[in-house]
Amino acid sequence: MSTNSALVKNPGPSGFIQYGQDFLIVDYGQVIKDGVSIGKIYDDGFMQVKGNTVGNAKNNFFIDQINDLSFRGTDSFGLTLELPITIQAPSGDLYFDGKLFKVINGRICDSLHSFHGIFDQSGNIYLRDPQSKRLDVKLDENTMLNTRFVGVNYLGEKFNFEFTRPLNRHNRNYIENEILRYFDSFDSLTSIQKKYVHENLNIWAACGILQLVRKSEGNCAFGDIRHGASGVTGVRTGNVTLDKDEFDTEIKLFFNDGPLSNLFVRNVPLHVEARVNMVVAHEFGHQLEFTLNQKAQERVIEIYNTRFKQSAKLFPYPHGYEGRSEILTREQIQSRVFYSGYAKESHQEFFAETIAAFSVTKTREDLKFFDRELYDFICQIILDSPKMLSTVLTEQITDLQLSLRLADIYKENLI
Ligand SMILES: [Zn+2]
Repeated sequence: MSTNSALVKNPGPSGFIQYGQDFLIVDYGQVIKDGVSIGKIYDDGFMQVKGNTVGNAKNNFFIDQINDLSFRGTDSFGLTLELPITIQAPSGDLYFDGKLFKVINGRICDSLHSFHGIFDQSGNIYLRDPQSKRLDVKLDENTMLNTRFVGVNYLGEKFNFEFTRPLNRHNRNYIENEILRYFDSFDSLTSIQKKYVHENLNIWAACGILQLVRKSEGNCAFGDIRHGASGVTGVRTGNVTLDKDEFDTEIKLFFNDGPLSNLFVRNVPLHVEARVNMVVAHEFGHQLEFTLNQKAQERVIEIYNTRFKQSAKLFPYPHGYEGRSEILTREQIQSRVFYSGYAKESHQEFFAETIAAFSVTKTREDLKFFDRELYDFICQIILDSPKMLSTVLTEQITDLQLSLRLADIYKENLI
């Protein structure tokens, strides 16, 4: 993050500083005395003031370090802010999924002096949520990430704390752990297979959706599949089963052609079908569709129906073709309606293929220019998840994404 964007996002708090009998105005971080700025205060209580205007001879200090000094007002995001906080809390280094924060008397701060929330003496974390304007969002075992604290308690005595998520490995990061939990027998895969699975699932793990889909639908494992398909998602169980041989074929296509291939169509000369080579993300897409709310599910069908009509009109099935995919001549492929030919099959396959295409940068960028409406719809699932997922998941995805944002896993530039 550049300093400029940090300043825009984190201009500083507004309100009043009380110092003994004196009141000073604070306006977006500027501390004003007799109409003149004498320094700055940040959201986490760090102050930089000129000369001896406040306190002793110090120029840079935390508000807690000087007696009789306090702040009341709102932080950079308009959330209520009172400093210092009055709980008896620890100070030290906090590693949240490996990302380092400073804890000052319980306040979780970073190098830009943002104030993220409270770390208490029992190891609980309460986050401030600028997006949904909530204070003290307590993280639970679903939303708390692997945490390590090294420091002292309020009495100055040594205090260390460690939390590892249930069934997680403490030496792996959140994304790795989520992929390990979702993809059964991940450990036994070859390195190239692991890389492929990672490519398929990374974006979905990073935004927290993989965790919720796994919990609400199920995981993914190798097994026997009839009909020679590469994967199947159980309607009743919600679990994904992948065929091991087909899995290797998918991987070969992916590493040879990239995420998109044009394949010849059997028995139909001169025709090709666009194919997305992302089977893990495809099957995950079927699970994800089950967790969308009704409005979002209806939107999938609506977009699919429009595309289907258009494709049927422009590219009727050629003689001898018995499938249901959109197949085209090489000349027509650039003006195809469906990004992947198989997406024409049904609205479920349409959604799964779109999720597959969205999972890696190359086809995601393609899709943006190919079908902007569809691209924007999938973006919304990631960027506005609480509004797109089933209402039973709203609270958990909101809190989980807050936590993932703090650890810089659910990044602003994720898409
Ligand atoms: Zn499918």
